[in-house]
Amino acid sequence: MIDFSLGDEQKALQQLARDFAQSEIAPVALQYDKEPAFPGEIIKKAHQAGLMNLTCPREYGGQGLGLLDAALITEELNAGCSAIAGMIGINSLACGPILVAGTEEQKRRFLIPLNESGKTASFGLTEREAGSDAGSLKTRARREGDHYVISGQKCFITNGSFASLYTIFATLDPEKGTRGISAFVVARETPGVSIGKVEDKMGQRSLNAAEVNLDDVAVPVENRLGAEGEGFKIAMKTLDEGRINIAATAVGIARAAFEAAVQYAKQRRQFGKPVGTFQALNFMLADMAAAVDAARLLTWYAASKADQEQPVTREAAQAKYFAADVAMRVTTDAVQIHGGYGYTKEYPVEKYMRDAKLTQIYEGTNQINRLVAGGALMR
Ligand SMILES: Cc1cc2nc3c(=O)[nH]c(=O)nc-3n(C[C@H](O)[C@H](O)[C@H](O)COP(=O)(O)OP(=O)(O)OC[C@H]3O[C@@H](n4cnc5c(N)ncnc54)[C@H](O)[C@@H]3O)c2cc1C
Repeated sequence: MIDFSLGDEQKALQQLARDFAQSEIAPVALQYDKEPAFPGEIIKKAHQAGLMNLTCPREYGGQGLGLLDAALITEELNAGCSAIAGMIGINSLACGPILVAGTEEQKRRFLIPLNESGKTASFGLTEREAGSDAGSLKTRARREGDHYVISGQKCFITNGSFASLYTIFATLDPEKGTRGISAFVVARETPGVSIGKVEDKMGQRSLNAAEVNLDDVAVPVENRLGAEGEGFKIAMKTLDEGRINIAATAVGIARAAFEAAVQYAKQRRQFGKPVGTFQALNFMLADMAAAVDAARLLTWYAASKADQEQPVTREAAQAKYFAADVAMRVTTDAVQIHGGYGYTKEYPVEKYMRDAKLTQIYEGTNQINRLVAGGALMR
């Protein structure tokens, strides 16, 4: 028999995150949507509550949770507001390369001060001309004695404006393609690091996405993660975990929209009946419930496989694109079920719809994740 029930500790984590989302995130979600701002106070409280740095081991100042436990928390926080939850959760992606490829000394040097202080970091792979085709990135690193000198520009970097450190991918030799790429930890205060354009986005509006400029930035050799040329592999391994996190994000947004739709469909009356009793909407709600459950189960499956240290490239990509497509469909249907009111800012569903769209785009678009999953099937 397969047991899908959660243990007592998992239920307690889920409840902790649900309470936090309801008391600290949801009440200010619309305000942060209208006037995008750094949710510093909320991040601080999340850190104090043990809701940050979830999968980072305890010896490096993290919570030491598995990916399944982290998915439970991520769903709850994102049901409150995905932009704020994304800012709380960004360290998991940003510090992934350090956990994947860092030495013991590097993990201690970078992760402990970051995690203990509650500061935040960013993951810098994407560039203007290298999005889906990240392997063609142009940011250059050249070795000069005991330093690398890095120059280039990263874009769409989540939390880029506020990070205290960046994991940056740069090429030592563009001729070598993905094998020329290396990974580095770059401290924000290093001379030559500056912030460029901050994106004005359709959804997840308080999720800061900024250009990070690197202008002859001198980075000590001891900040390189893994061997020279291993950077692309490190990025892809980091994204396997990151995609499970995005799947849980999408489930959280979809669930919030579904719950709002059920509530509205019970209370809104037309033709003398609650609109949810009309079969057209009733079936829509049934399909939404099934889709959210299926997305969650796929997410939990990928997470538990990763927790058992099994390869999850295909499962993580599938969970990500499936859950993101579910989030887009369910949030769109939630707007439909609210009729004209769903199209206004009086109800939260139009925000969920705008927020959901991002889950189909970042950490590999859904097209790219299908390509990853399909590629794994052919190997
Ligand atoms: C809000 C936000 C936050 C982000 N955060 C980060 C971050 O923290 N760090 C980071 O490094 N990046 C980040 N990104 C970047 C994100 O991962 C990229 O936007 C994404 O990978 C797509 O790249 P692109 O935007 O250049 O689109 P493009 O690669 O130009 O894609 C355009 C279209 O072509 C399709 N396409 C491209 N190649 C193929 C193909 N081979 N087959 C089929 N279809 C294809 C795509 O699916 C898409 O529909 C973020 C993006 C956003 C919007």
